[in-house]
Amino acid sequence: MGAMSRTSSLGVKTCPRCNKEYKYTEKRRYAKQTYYYAIHLWMDETGKKRVHKCYLGAETYIYVKRVHMDSNINFHGYTVEDRYKQYIKDINDYLNRDKTHGEKIVRSVKTEIKP
Ligand SMILES: [Zn+2]
Repeated sequence: MGAMSRTSSLGVKTCPRCNKEYKYTEKRRYAKQTYYYAIHLWMDETGKKRVHKCYLGAETYIYVKRVHMDSNINFHGYTVEDRYKQYIKDINDYLNRDKTHGEKIVRSVKTEIKP
């Protein structure tokens, strides 16, 4: 799986939810799923430490996959940086399972997709 955070060239991690800088990501395991949160820390006007967590999504979307069982594609959250590469590989596997069906799909999208 890919790294857990987006880091700019200056080393600042920007939250995709609120667009503010965050300190680190937190990983939570619940019912066999892994969920990620961006942790924002700051001092308020009284000098009190404040914490805000932004939900970044699950590592893999199990429920989404259930309705795509025929394709066997694993759907990932924001924290999986190479998810698009993984989608392409999963789709390639799906297209190669039934060549005739796969070639038909490829022909129909060839005119629409320009890399
Ligand atoms: Zn945030």
